[in-house]
Amino acid sequence: MKKRIAVLPGDGIGKEVTRGAVDILNAIGERFGHQFYFSYGKIGGSAFESEGTPLPDETIELCKESDAVLLGAVGGPQWDRLPVHLRPEQGLLKIRKELNLYANLRPTNYYESLVESSPLRKEVIEGVDMLIVRELTGGLYFGKPSERSQQDGKDVVVDTLFYQRAEMYRVIKLAFEVAKGRKKKVTSVDKANVLESSRMWREVAEEVSAQYPDVELEHMLVDNAAMQMIKNPKRFDVVVTENMFGDILSDEASVLTGSLGMLPSASLSENGPYLYEPIHGSAPDIEGKNIANPLAMILSVAMMLRTSFGLEEEAEAVENAVNEVLNAGYRTQDILSFGNRAVSTNEMVAEVKATI
Ligand code: ATP
Ligand code: MG
Repeated sequence: MKKRIAVLPGDGIGKEVTRGAVDILNAIGERFGHQFYFSYGKIGGSAFESEGTPLPDETIELCKESDAVLLGAVGGPQWDRLPVHLRPEQGLLKIRKELNLYANLRPTNYYESLVESSPLRKEVIEGVDMLIVRELTGGLYFGKPSERSQQDGKDVVVDTLFYQRAEMYRVIKLAFEVAKGRKKKVTSVDKANVLESSRMWREVAEEVSAQYPDVELEHMLVDNAAMQMIKNPKRFDVVVTENMFGDILSDEASVLTGSLGMLPSASLSENGPYLYEPIHGSAPDIEGKNIANPLAMILSVAMMLRTSFGLEEEAEAVENAVNEVLNAGYRTQDILSFGNRAVSTNEMVAEVKATI
């Protein structure tokens, strides 16, 4: 198979972990006989430094011509005082918009060997295998008006929660599609006892559910979902929810089984290309020290192989290699536990590569 991959290293440790991801893709290409062609684009603070903008047009073009996009991370304190439209994060928001990425997928998996980095007891998290599907284009974050004013001499604020039925439909449909290949259960999270938008969300979930007789649908109120994720995370398979609820729940889910440095994500659109990135940021505090955990990025590569290219065996080869390396005791400093020596970013990548 031949595939073109746009690689956007970005800033901080984004650059370090992206190098590792490309190494791993090359190893997979070699073992399974695929050719991956990499084209590099600038984004974030480093793009601002050389091009004067956090997202140059060439980068957008490059992504649109590629089969998938691999992104490191953007941001850093040196760019915090720039006007808003020039800040690194704008590059990320803009590329999401340009590629019409409407759903963000974040898996949370249990790693036996990392049980000590979890805030929860082993009995609670053992076997957790959950996927949060978050709507990315609508809801409170984009509704207009969003403003502050004076009414009768009092300060008032308005934020608007706006959704089109079609936006709900496509993301819920995607959740059911993904669930078909998993444990066949979708938990649709809303606040239908209070919000009109949630009542429509529930209707749409029912409508989609009718097309998937093999997939179980349950509705859950968001406050209950937040609690269940801590009390009994094993009960979840695919969780689908609107933008803000998904923002909050996906951060909650991300700490259940361990470190920020372990968690991948995928953002999907209707026609591709999809974008893959670790959920962590550019971590300026550890930049350039060769100590960042590259596994979130490497697991993002596994998601790319599976979701964009349909390469299940290859994706599993990456995931199994990560598991083996962890079981063998290799740890970067963020997931270090008693009795292990910390390895560098490069050593971790090399171990995974050798295992593949
Ligand atoms: P953003 O706003 O871009 O999401 P953030 O402020 O949430 O960034 P991160 O950059 O994700 O923060 O870093 C949060 C903390 O986690 C930092 O102390 C950072 O060093 C640590 N961290 C993040 N990613 C990794 C990683 N891959 N390996 C090790 N430590 C990490
Ligand atoms: Mg963050």
